[in-house]
Amino acid sequence: MIYAANFKTNHTRKSTELYLQELSLNIKAKNVDDKVYIFPPATAMDSYEGDFTIGTQNAYAAHHGAYTGEIGIEQLDEFGIKTILIGHSERREYLGESQEKVSQKFSFFQEEGFEIIYCIGEPLEIREKGFEAVMKYLLAQFDGIDINYDRLIVAYEPIWAIGTGRSATVEEISTTHRALKKAIDNKPLLYGGSAKPSNIKEITSIAGVDGVLVGSASLDAESFSEMILS
Ligand code: PEP
Repeated sequence: MIYAANFKTNHTRKSTELYLQELSLNIKAKNVDDKVYIFPPATAMDSYEGDFTIGTQNAYAAHHGAYTGEIGIEQLDEFGIKTILIGHSERREYLGESQEKVSQKFSFFQEEGFEIIYCIGEPLEIREKGFEAVMKYLLAQFDGIDINYDRLIVAYEPIWAIGTGRSATVEEISTTHRALKKAIDNKPLLYGGSAKPSNIKEITSIAGVDGVLVGSASLDAESFSEMILS
């Protein structure tokens, strides 16, 4: 299983360091095949040692240059970071990242050989229209994306389940993952949206779920460790 923690705009450099110390101790007991990813805020990036991979929540599609407020490959290279989240719904919605922008970013980081966790997800009004509408919406989020990229991991995150405490149902996850798996040629597929210690077992037992992308419940090292060790 893959367990990925997205800190978003939470944690500092100091608290990330303490978090990773605690997590490292806890996950000594994890299954050897399980993979753990941590996406801290950019200010907390560092060359941390441990049985986890540090990724970036975002980066600009450039090595370096005049892109105020952004970081590029040069800043990631300093810490050996070669994993990136692309297409998160919060970036699509709050930062105005269109499908065109998202796919350009994807192509750039693919060229650079990054491991990409590519996020897709539908809003509630689409889910309420039914499964066909959901799949049409989700498949459109692969426009311009090379699904044959061998370092691609997809994260299905229904927007209405993110940060709301209300996860999608087993049935919703199961049917959506089954259809998505076919569309992405069986690439690793994570579920994201209010995954937490109390529902992690149920979610990771669903066929077609290869792991989870976790926001809120990953902010506390103990809670995230509990999920990994569940
Ligand atoms: C996310 O935003 O990637 C996410 C899954 O958040 P949460 O776990 O808080 O729903």
